[in-house]
Amino acid sequence: MLNNFFAKFSKDLGIDLGSSSTLIISNDKGIVIDEPSVVAVNTRTDEILAVGVEAAKMSGKTPAHIMTIKPLSNGVISDFEVAEKMIKYFIDKVHAENFTLLPRPRIVINIPSDITEVEKKAVEDVTKTAGAREILLVDNALVAAVGARLPVLDATANMIIDIGGGKTEIAIVSLGGVVTWKNLRLSGITLDQDIVQYARDEFNMLIGERVAEDIKKRIGSASPLAEQVEMNMCGRDLVNGLPKEIVINDGQVREALSRSIFHIIESIKATLEMTPPELVADIYERGIILTGGGALLRGLDKEIANATKIPVRIADDPLTCVVRGTGKILEDLEIYKNIFLPSASN
Ligand code: ADP
Ligand code: MG
Repeated sequence: MLNNFFAKFSKDLGIDLGSSSTLIISNDKGIVIDEPSVVAVNTRTDEILAVGVEAAKMSGKTPAHIMTIKPLSNGVISDFEVAEKMIKYFIDKVHAENFTLLPRPRIVINIPSDITEVEKKAVEDVTKTAGAREILLVDNALVAAVGARLPVLDATANMIIDIGGGKTEIAIVSLGGVVTWKNLRLSGITLDQDIVQYARDEFNMLIGERVAEDIKKRIGSASPLAEQVEMNMCGRDLVNGLPKEIVINDGQVREALSRSIFHIIESIKATLEMTPPELVADIYERGIILTGGGALLRGLDKEIANATKIPVRIADDPLTCVVRGTGKILEDLEIYKNIFLPSASN
């Protein structure tokens, strides 16, 4: 009753709590937060120095007493206290821009399908302490599918693959629920690490993960490009310890990434194999949808389509797909009322 009363005035928010970035959408203003899930902490005083974009700038450049922490790994909260402060900071930032006599918001938030009850409770507790009045939990794959405008409530199967920073979720959704799924630890960060390893093995060079990520985004690919591209790669020579710069091309990066790409594709095939035949028939007809930042790796859609013989489509703006999904759910709470997961708190 009281909740309905508040609902009229409060600002409802949708949150995509990702290992790489946190996005928040509000029911009247669209996407209001899109920042790295990073917090900089002074370890001498436990003081939070920066959150989000500002904290990410410090990453890899901090003196001994400052640490940058990513409180989420593999899509679950790994550092409870820091996660809480980070979410609170983002929610407060949204509220500060508004008139704050408003009641606390109702929040729709995504959680991975293999989350444990303890981890789920952590998300709820943290979000509640950070200022939520009511928390509605939805499976990450399902929100991603809503964001990609798939008819998730219908009796048709859709396959959605979310390749994020900390994990890859392969899921088949139908009738408002997840039917089959497979989650991999392998994800965007693994690809960065592949490039770091390649530089070490092939060039005796130590490069930072941010350099590796930059190389991946600029010239990385899963299948050969129409034209060869190359860029400079800076790091440290492991033999003499001095700075070193070499030129790396797309073929070399592809080689560095090939094992992980192969693994992702094999896991997609394995998921299809354990899916009931009626659903597979739907997927053949409707295709596979890719979302998350990893979907932007050039040629990945093509490689998956070749290997599975199923058409593959990249969701529009894959980096914001999940948060836009939470926004759609907020707009139509009545329609989506059956997709929420039970709370772990009661
Ligand atoms: P999360 O949901 O875990 O926060 P995101 O969906 O935001 O993750 O995706 C982040 C990942 O996507 C990072 O590993 C990032 O390097 C990767 N990424 C972003 N843009 C590209 C691109 N153009 N090519 C390849 N990978 C990308
Ligand atoms: Mg994500």
